[in-house]
Amino acid sequence: MLNNSGSMSLDLNLTNSEVEEAMDRARAIISEGGRIDVELGLSLYKNAPLMQLGELAHSIKRRMHGDKVHFNLNLHVNTTNICVLACRFCAFRKGSKHEDAYYLSVEEYLDRVRPYSESIDEVHSVGGLHPNWTIEHYENLYRAMKKEFPHITIKSLTAVEIKHIAKRSGMSIAQTLTKLMDAGLDAIPGGGAEILVDSVRDRICRGKESSLEYLSIHRSAHEAGLPTNCTMLFGTVETLRDRITHLDLLRRLQDETSGFQCFVPYPFLPDKTRLPEAKIPSAEEVLRTISISRLMLDNIPHLKAYRMNIGDDLASLAILNGADDLDGTVEKEEIMHSAGSSTPLNTGMDGLIRMIESTGQDAIQRNTIYTRFKSHTLKNRPESRSLPIVG
Ligand code: SF4
Repeated sequence: MLNNSGSMSLDLNLTNSEVEEAMDRARAIISEGGRIDVELGLSLYKNAPLMQLGELAHSIKRRMHGDKVHFNLNLHVNTTNICVLACRFCAFRKGSKHEDAYYLSVEEYLDRVRPYSESIDEVHSVGGLHPNWTIEHYENLYRAMKKEFPHITIKSLTAVEIKHIAKRSGMSIAQTLTKLMDAGLDAIPGGGAEILVDSVRDRICRGKESSLEYLSIHRSAHEAGLPTNCTMLFGTVETLRDRITHLDLLRRLQDETSGFQCFVPYPFLPDKTRLPEAKIPSAEEVLRTISISRLMLDNIPHLKAYRMNIGDDLASLAILNGADDLDGTVEKEEIMHSAGSSTPLNTGMDGLIRMIESTGQDAIQRNTIYTRFKSHTLKNRPESRSLPIVG
């Protein structure tokens, strides 16, 4: 059970009639293809027994995707950690004079990709807001990527990076997106949504795009034909209602555009960051958040368990509690690892397949935009053995 500040409550009375009534109502709404409203969502998030919430979320996931769990073969490349902003939760950014500050030239970026180019089909690429880069830098980068690696999909730039590039280049968001697409941008990750409540944003990421700007930039991308993901960073200073409001705003935009492919919720990792008042989500809270997200986001097809943030063990549970997608192979990740993630970076495709199969589900490789799929099974897959029934 959660209290409204987002931290765990010691009240373990999980069987009261109000909770059962809310669960019954939710099951009825979902079976009729209806929508869980904000108040019911909040009530379930706060009170529903984790197992029941997870089972309901998993049943929705199975209705949408059967036993399939998706992954892709990708590489993360972070273009620069230099950033003109200083979001309070961010352990990745550096000032331009910091000894650990870096930025990749186009050639250095290509050097990062080359060792993996035969084994991946996506580069996921985000970074800080570099004070000097305009759109020309990104156009040159994407053109060089497409010239050398035409088979690799470029999923790049958060909404605030797009806003920054547009401003630095004296262009509208729509013009910026058009030029970036012409240069090779294929899709946009969802980073930077944090919590789409401006009073929260003012405390954790002042100066970043507003909630409306985030939604408006994604709307522009959808209108331009660019598929995007969306995210939620939870466990800083927001309330449970703020999180549910966030989910409601995302699904309202999705009702209009259908442009979101995947939702990626991830908890705040506290190491080295500057947010001492944050309440760190427990494992139960992470699973509960994944489950309630599957219930609320009835129109966003995929829900990702972000291994780089929550770790492989919790990700394995998440794909039994509403998630249908894992990170890809990733290979190199800096943002979450700067903040304290210890998720191994050498899991590889067999490791992902093993993780999925260990939950009794089927591993399906996908491309970035979920239009090509390939089924995998581990060679030498061990025979599954049931426990003997005693008595
Ligand atoms: S979260 Fe992004 S915009 Fe904010 S400081 Fe970090 S790199 Fe900069």
